[in-house]
Amino acid sequence: MRLDKYLTETNTATRKEAASAARSGAITVNGEVVRDPSKHIDENTAKVVFRGEEVVYRRFTYIMLNKPEGYVSATDDKSAPTVLELIPEKCRKGLFPCGRLDRYTVGLMILTNDGELSHNILSPKHHAEKEYFFRCEKPLDRIAELENGVHIEGGYLTKPCTVTKVDDYSGRIVLTEGKYHQIKQMLHAVGNKITYLERIRFAGLTLENAPERGKWRFLTDEEIAILRSCR
Ligand code: URA
Repeated sequence: MRLDKYLTETNTATRKEAASAARSGAITVNGEVVRDPSKHIDENTAKVVFRGEEVVYRRFTYIMLNKPEGYVSATDDKSAPTVLELIPEKCRKGLFPCGRLDRYTVGLMILTNDGELSHNILSPKHHAEKEYFFRCEKPLDRIAELENGVHIEGGYLTKPCTVTKVDDYSGRIVLTEGKYHQIKQMLHAVGNKITYLERIRFAGLTLENAPERGKWRFLTDEEIAILRSCR
């Protein structure tokens, strides 16, 4: 692979930055300064150091985002900003949200360009757990009904889930499925209304380890392994 492609694919630099860093002698490959950004390197074995920092080569990008309100979980939308707009342009290539959160839902979201991993996490057969903290308009009751399953849009009966009361007007819910507006619809089915919804856990990762609201970071190797173990 060309050195400049390697640096763009690893989100280290744009092609232009790679060229100027190479010209100034700021890139080494296996200990040797490389000034030609078009030089071919073996991406699987080369030790590339860019401006003093070793570059880690990954075929795919995995990002954890603490989604703020008002952003839609899409790659393109005419009426509202998308979660992709919170990620710098140089890291966005091929990226898509792994599962959806509603526009006014906040919290843990994973973005990747690894279609197979995303498919595995979201596939109903893998039952990856999603946990949400919610607040509701009326006192939280009829918990057993919510846990056993309620009928939502189209007559669908939701799968058994766990609901824990936090106080009279809030709780936590753990789902293993993700129907459209599921939690809003479930609370509606028991005569209540969601006023705040935050995803706090997804496929083994937790919001506690996420950056502050509106911010993102790359997943660590350990976190990627946790997502893979969802298979
Ligand atoms: N359930 C909802 O109603 N909204 C979400 O964003 C996620 C789950």
